Amino acid sequence: MEIRKAKVQGFCFGVAITVKKAEEAIAARDDITTLGHVVHNPQMVASLAQRGLRNAHSIDEVEAGALFVRAHGLPVEVFEKAAEKGLEIIDATCPMVTKIHVQAERLKSDGYKIVIVGDPQHPEVRGTLSHVPEAWCIETVEDVDRLPRGSKVGVVAQSTYSRERFTDIVKALSQKYYEVRAVNTICTDTNNRQSEASRLATEVEVMVVVGGKTSANTKHLAELAERHGAKAYHIEGPQDLRPEWFAGVRVAGLMSGASTPGWLVDGVERRMEELTRQLV
Ligand code: SF4
Repeated sequence: MEIRKAKVQGFCFGVAITVKKAEEAIAARDDITTLGHVVHNPQMVASLAQRGLRNAHSIDEVEAGALFVRAHGLPVEVFEKAAEKGLEIIDATCPMVTKIHVQAERLKSDGYKIVIVGDPQHPEVRGTLSHVPEAWCIETVEDVDRLPRGSKVGVVAQSTYSRERFTDIVKALSQKYYEVRAVNTICTDTNNRQSEASRLATEVEVMVVVGGKTSANTKHLAELAERHGAKAYHIEGPQDLRPEWFAGVRVAGLMSGASTPGWLVDGVERRMEELTRQLV
């Protein structure tokens, strides 16, 4: 079986910067906490925890030391609480996420009603909402029907949202509202990976997509691969691979989400090669 790897693999630049900052911060401090996992990758999370990074669910659980802000960012009120508590803040919010906050605030000050396209429960979207609290958040094209009437709406997207679905939603908004100003805030890395998923899926029979089960961008890549003709499997590591997926398969694709380290993708590739040899 031939394995074709996507051109973009491993961490996106935002996650790479966050992980590097986390490693440096842990090495220099004894008491450092993050809210939620630094990346959607269990192996990386375990490695950082082993080196001393504590994980808390809420800022109320952090009383001292440093607060590490992961690539998704945090809501404004959490930054304020951390400052009130005198915590040192190490802000590793991805610049592409900060850009979304800036764009949403700009649209708001220009008089647009803000629509955020993304998962309202996702930490990144909750952070964006804290900058424009009165915004509407929608996740699907069907949600457009449920929005109240208005005249002008300004639209931004979660950085890892599906490009195709964003286009559909903007079209539906244009049919409902007099003026729609949409800023495509889907980040460059997500765009590149989605293009690769669509392209590679047409060349392979099976596509293996490596990434944490909670990773939104990895889920979208698997969906895209399926939509473009490949049977897609979303896995977290080599241990999840099943030999029967590759029986009779001539060409398989391999790609990863933005928070998947390169070494993990290499491990999956090696295991796919082993399984192929066993099938011969
Ligand atoms: S996926 Fe995009 S927005 Fe998210 S951390 Fe990576 S580069 Fe930044």
